[in-house]
Amino acid sequence: MINLVLLLKPNIFNSQMISTNALILRVSDITENVVHIDTLQEPEWLENLPELWSEGSEIKLISKVGIDLNVTRVLNEVTVTGNLRLTIETPCFRCVEAVKIELSPLVSLVLTSDDQLRGEEQDLECETYQGDEVDLNNYLREQVAMALPVKVVCDEICKGLCTICGANLNNDDCDCERDQIDPRFAVLKDIKI
Ligand SMILES: [Zn+2]
Ligand SMILES: [Zn+2]
Repeated sequence: MINLVLLLKPNIFNSQMISTNALILRVSDITENVVHIDTLQEPEWLENLPELWSEGSEIKLISKVGIDLNVTRVLNEVTVTGNLRLTIETPCFRCVEAVKIELSPLVSLVLTSDDQLRGEEQDLECETYQGDEVDLNNYLREQVAMALPVKVVCDEICKGLCTICGANLNNDDCDCERDQIDPRFAVLKDIKI
């Protein structure tokens, strides 16, 4: 994983947009010109994906992570906007067939200098950076975590698995006599009318 710290050369100081693939930026290098981050991270960048998911650990990344961001700074406030792109795979909640999902979480972050906040009332909503360095890595992983889906199904009409033989009912119609009666009403079955 290569995350070079962005170092501006004086001869590109006047350009309108500075491009980089770095995710760790030196704050003093971000002028009011836009810094454009355009990079593809290897899957290892998100190797903690299962820990980020609240629905279990059976989730994997099956693509690189595209990162396309614009970074600007006004005084001590760094604004990061853009989006991420990745494809994940996870079992269907009902039939356990693998489901691929493309995600493109939007990123909209405002980071304020930790030094500036010190002594003032700390705003809990406000993300901070320390010193002259903004390390976007963990902020971006958090954005991925927030974009992960809950209760993934392969199709809204997925029939799931037979509770007796385990057959995938989308493909097979097994002969098991599954009790379709809602257990709350099971008692009614024995009432003779
Ligand atoms: Zn399914
Ligand atoms: Zn069955």
